[in-house]
Amino acid sequence: MKRREFLKTAALAGAAATVPVITGCSSNGPRTYNVNRLGTARMHLSFDPYEIQLRHTFTVSSFSRTTTPDVQVRIDFDGYTGHGEASMPPYLGHTVESVCAFLAKVDLEQFSDPFQMEDILAYVDSLSEGDAPAKAAIDIALHDLVGQMIGQPWFRLYGLDAAKAPSTSFTIGIDTPEVVREKTLEALGKYNVLKIKVGMDSDKEMIETIRSVTDVPLVVDANQGWKDKYLALDMISWLHERGVQMAEQPMPKEMLDDIAWVTERSPMPIFADESIQRLADVKRIKGAFSGINIKLMKCTGMSEAWRMISYARAEGMKVMMGCMTETSCAVTAAAHLSPAVDFADLDGNLLIANDLFDGVTVQSGKLILPNRPGLGLAQK
Ligand code: MG
Repeated sequence: MKRREFLKTAALAGAAATVPVITGCSSNGPRTYNVNRLGTARMHLSFDPYEIQLRHTFTVSSFSRTTTPDVQVRIDFDGYTGHGEASMPPYLGHTVESVCAFLAKVDLEQFSDPFQMEDILAYVDSLSEGDAPAKAAIDIALHDLVGQMIGQPWFRLYGLDAAKAPSTSFTIGIDTPEVVREKTLEALGKYNVLKIKVGMDSDKEMIETIRSVTDVPLVVDANQGWKDKYLALDMISWLHERGVQMAEQPMPKEMLDDIAWVTERSPMPIFADESIQRLADVKRIKGAFSGINIKLMKCTGMSEAWRMISYARAEGMKVMMGCMTETSCAVTAAAHLSPAVDFADLDGNLLIANDLFDGVTVQSGKLILPNRPGLGLAQK
């Protein structure tokens, strides 16, 4: 049996026995791809719907939910497998059906060189106007695949120092004071920054409840909840006096003039989330916000996220990496970019009950990136 066939067989046997398999690695460690083989194999895309179960009912200013629809994606190429994921929180308008319909249109069999990521992702992007989560799933799987073929983790390919990965905030959802107190106490010691969902009448009660048990740094996300600029600025000032370090999307996404007024007077940085999705949006909102929240499911994946970081820096803006409720696949992909950003809000995998992968972990609040090729995922 040739070595490659043995590796394939060994990987299949491992999967069948549900032994954790680090994709792209043999028992002798990472193997790098022999580029002389390019041209002989084709990329193959496959995908399966997956319903993410949340650990707790999740409430923000506009809705509550207990599950998130998701589609898991694989790209297979010459014995390597890259994993990707599309997560679809309902407010963005994507569904399992829309994601699968998009993925069914994608013909990766035409490509025999996964390293040509720019061409492949430009082709995928050209297939429709929207469909950001489906495009992100392919982008993430392609990055995982190529990183494995190179034999290096993505933080290293970006030239980033994994030790500089920031702490992630951990989100405390809107709830009764008793539940908020309980969730806060659970989070203390595990996380260095707590993110509080605000934008409802109960905001001050939420913050005072948390402050009654801890002085840990806080960040807040109003999710467009404040409709009046004077109210937004009053709340931001009040929050800042209570140790809040930044606020996300204080007002409705289209109210850019009012948001710019608030940002100009705010004692802390104001980040755009709902107001931006992709690179071109950053130019549009420049001046209205101090920074941007990049999420792979909004921006079509790691490739565009990296460009957004560069552009935001060139414009003197701050950057945070966020996520949806998603498995460790997409969260780990975002985490590989995190040493390049100011804030990380990468707790989506920690909020779900049925994760499929081991990847990025959190130790004493800080993101620990897997030092394994590609995304560095291990199937659970
Ligand atoms: Mg947000």
